[in-house]
Amino acid sequence: MKVLVTGGLGYIGSHTCVQLIENGHTPVVMDNLSNSKALVLNRIEALTGQRPSFHLGDVRDEAFLDSIFAQHQIDAVIHFAGLKAVGESVSKPLEYYDNNVNGSLVLARSMRKAGVKNIIFSSSATVYGDPQQVPITEDSPTGATTNPYGRSKYIVEQCLSDLFTAEDDWSITLLRYFNPVGAHPSGTLGEDPQGIPNNLMPFIAQVAVGRRDKLAVFGDDYPTPDGTGVRDYIHVMDLADGHLAALNALTNKSGLHIYNLGTGKGSSVLDMVNAFSAACGHPVAYEIHPRRAGDIAECWASTAKAEQDLGWKATRDIAQMSADTWHWQSNNPQGYDELEK
Ligand code: NAD
Ligand code: UDP
Repeated sequence: MKVLVTGGLGYIGSHTCVQLIENGHTPVVMDNLSNSKALVLNRIEALTGQRPSFHLGDVRDEAFLDSIFAQHQIDAVIHFAGLKAVGESVSKPLEYYDNNVNGSLVLARSMRKAGVKNIIFSSSATVYGDPQQVPITEDSPTGATTNPYGRSKYIVEQCLSDLFTAEDDWSITLLRYFNPVGAHPSGTLGEDPQGIPNNLMPFIAQVAVGRRDKLAVFGDDYPTPDGTGVRDYIHVMDLADGHLAALNALTNKSGLHIYNLGTGKGSSVLDMVNAFSAACGHPVAYEIHPRRAGDIAECWASTAKAEQDLGWKATRDIAQMSADTWHWQSNNPQGYDELEK
């Protein structure tokens, strides 16, 4: 299949492009490089022997999208492009709604003109807000998210659901990711956050490699086994494989489908610190800090629906997530290096 991958040079998009190529698909990548680097294309090519067709531009630019659909016979779209920093979304709501909501609407309009009606959308477990129960099933209440980023994901879910109600020849899959971590096992692709990482795993990795002194653990007084927050961390390669499974299930079968992509297991902050310390061979320094505003105590996925409908299940554990992150971080201590040819 020829698949337009928006945001295809970002963290999850780049790993998904590799898995698409490895499984006989042809990704066509578009990205505005607002949070990624063009040299990721070199890394994808080195791993797969194929260099995806790349289109530099913005998902909010309808004429630009129209021109991509005119140039390529696209079968399906995987829509990763968007902004993703929760804290930043609070100070820049207009930018977040514009990139995430408006970008998705422009994309859907351009797809409709081109007669391409298969789309997989990157949603997030954040749409569940503070869950009433774990594991979280797909029919749990959504919408009680507390920040513009989460609300932008919820709004796009609603827009795409309404689109399907109006035009039932679309095939729309909403994938709600839990906590993506890890890197390609080659150590050549991984997460490259700009500035101080907000997320746990990249922060731990930067402490381990000596870029930061110690991790601040946000709260040890949650009602969880060791008092620290519990999340469902999922290896980015498992996540990429989940997109392949969704792609195989969706194309040319109209419907609106919603799946959690997680492992079904919760791990605490200290579980992650310990797994990473074992992977890198030395202790990761940390100290306990107050809770971070807006954080929930625990969250993990029910994976039954994805398993049953897509035949997909995550297989990599937190030891593997830590080992692959460490491989990436120690090979690329400064992330993707601009000077690299
Ligand atoms: P990322 O920032 O690494 O990748 C997003 C890519 O989209 C980047 O390459 C960026 O340059 C590009 N982009 C952003 N705005 C664009 C625009 N207007 N036009 C064209 N390109 C644009 O993020 P990621 O971690 O790979 O996340 C991919 C998607 O998954 C995002 O939509 C994100 O919200 C969602 N998601 C991520 C996580 C996570 O923890 N990483 C969790 C749940 C959902
Ligand atoms: N966390 C932490 N220190 C950090 C970053 C995160 O203790 O520097 C904790 C956070 O409180 C939460 C877990 O790690 O319990 C995962 O946080 P992250 O921001 O990675 O994901 P999210 O909050 O979106 O689930």
